Amino acid sequence: MAKIPINLSTGTIEQNSEIIVGIDLGTTNSLVAYIKDGKAVAVKDENGKRTLVPSVIHFGPDEVIVGDPARKKLITHPEKTIYSVKRLMGKSYKDVNSFENYLSYKIIDEDQDALVKIQVDEKFYSPIELSAEILKALKKRIETRLNKSIQKAVITVPAYFNDTQRQATRDAGKLAGLDVLRIINEPTAASLAYGIGLDQNEDRKIVVYDLGGGTFDVSILQIQQGIFEVLSTNGDTFLGGDDFDKKIIDYWIEDRQVDRVKFKENKSYRQRVRLSAEEAKKILSSAELYKADDLSISLSKFNELIKPLIDRTIEACEIALKDSNLKKEEISNVIMVGGSTRVPLIKSSVSSFFDQQVNDKIDPDEVVALGAAIQGDILAGNQKGMLLLDVTPLSLGIETVGGLMDVIIPRNNKVPARVGRNYTTSVDGQKNLKVSVYQGERDMVSDNRKLGEFILSGIPPMPAGIPKIEIQFILDADGILVVKASELRSGISQNIEIRSQYGLSEEEMGKMLLDSFKHAEEDLAKRALLEARNEANNVILSSKKFIDHNKTLLTKEETATLIEMTKDLEMAAKSEDKDAINHKMETLNNYSRPLAERALDHAISDALKGKEL
Ligand code: ADP
Ligand code: MG
Repeated sequence: MAKIPINLSTGTIEQNSEIIVGIDLGTTNSLVAYIKDGKAVAVKDENGKRTLVPSVIHFGPDEVIVGDPARKKLITHPEKTIYSVKRLMGKSYKDVNSFENYLSYKIIDEDQDALVKIQVDEKFYSPIELSAEILKALKKRIETRLNKSIQKAVITVPAYFNDTQRQATRDAGKLAGLDVLRIINEPTAASLAYGIGLDQNEDRKIVVYDLGGGTFDVSILQIQQGIFEVLSTNGDTFLGGDDFDKKIIDYWIEDRQVDRVKFKENKSYRQRVRLSAEEAKKILSSAELYKADDLSISLSKFNELIKPLIDRTIEACEIALKDSNLKKEEISNVIMVGGSTRVPLIKSSVSSFFDQQVNDKIDPDEVVALGAAIQGDILAGNQKGMLLLDVTPLSLGIETVGGLMDVIIPRNNKVPARVGRNYTTSVDGQKNLKVSVYQGERDMVSDNRKLGEFILSGIPPMPAGIPKIEIQFILDADGILVVKASELRSGISQNIEIRSQYGLSEEEMGKMLLDSFKHAEEDLAKRALLEARNEANNVILSSKKFIDHNKTLLTKEETATLIEMTKDLEMAAKSEDKDAINHKMETLNNYSRPLAERALDHAISDALKGKEL
């Protein structure tokens, strides 16, 4: 096992060793921080002004731009400017169906279970690639600032992020050329920034209230001996500072300070009003009145407008508290995170609900990144009084369709570890499932190190997709890995034991890691192609089934077109061009969707006809 240092108590900081930066990859804004002279600081832009980088990516004619300049393009080039990509991380189309209207760029809807892709012109991007652009910009910012190359990072994610979303964040880091040592929870980072959790003898429960641009999260954490445990989370993924801006605009329209028709029809006027609303909101965080040109609003009016929104966040706090089984008196700190918590009515409402003063001394925009930098510093071994904790030196996973590596225990994970993940079969009546176990950081198992394999046999015959197969990885402190596969419906199970480090030197491990950076882009392209092919094959199969089952319902032309388009897709799937595959898939889906709806209506009316009422 590799060793990493974990801090035992707050101590003085040694200077020499490497820098591990902290990154807050936010929905609205992102930023990077590091430890300078023993203190966490966020890195400013080249003008030395802002630490926040708007999480916006614009695809220009010959370059990709990120941050403030990209944000300006939201109005002029909405279809080439991507925001809120964090909402799409690790999500399938099915997951994002409900909020597609909220986004002005194009999301590709194919196979309902597949991960979402974003279309810009003729190209398709995964949320991982887009997040990687933001991370690249942050990496460049700190490298320019420190005038040296930076590789290692700690990145934060919301406490409720699942395994897939966390892995997607790791992959984005890798693609940006970062070695992501840890993915930590945003509330944990905020707590570390306030120095809570650094003392081994500490035992407390805290609340982190995080209101950003478009999302609200409340988390209740228990901290014991430097270990953070999330007791409960709650929130609203569509509630944030943007909604305050909207309230102000609605009020101005109502009050005839803003012309309703002009606002609707004139893009640049609309944008000017939006910016004024945000400015008004910010001013009102420290003034009683906003007045500029022909627009004005008082603090009391603003408070009245946002009261119902704040009440909703307080209700979420109430539920989180109930779910944590704690009483208000047991909460020792309430930490404020996110730009919107600068609003005084929010501070006072949260404070009065929890019956205590809130912690708001640290800049709420920066607090998460600062905490991540502190975590990085602990991992770098710069904080004294360390406990050495064992971690996995390389990722462990299994082979999935097309020879892809599916990581189950990521590298740098604490050991002992126990992780389970669910799979299913891809063929009707499949009786056996081969489980091949690999170690390494590359996307294709063929580039990784094979540790062993076994066959889970005796799966009772079921249609594809029905069996529930759980693969569990149990890794002990000596590096012994037990891989267990079980079919949960029938209860059959099988396992093997592997010595994961056997015969692998430090140099070899280092080389495997380096290779994964060198090939990150090419690996991702391969993965994207394979995934597109897998999806295409599913679409082809279901399209053929559909044509077969609905012969009487389809017109001659429709059948011919469907056959033609399916053939086109089959051709494309054999090519190396993932964008072409995605295109053909989209064409076929768009054409067949209304036909499928018609077939469904027909089936329903048939079923009704058969019934006597
Ligand atoms: P996220 O975590 O979603 O990336 P942030 O924490 O950066 O978001 O919060 C951004 C939000 O904070 C925006 O809606 C912005 O208008 C708001 N905000 C920033 N400063 C202030 C302020 N002084 N008063 C009120 N709201 C503010
Ligand atoms: Mg945030």
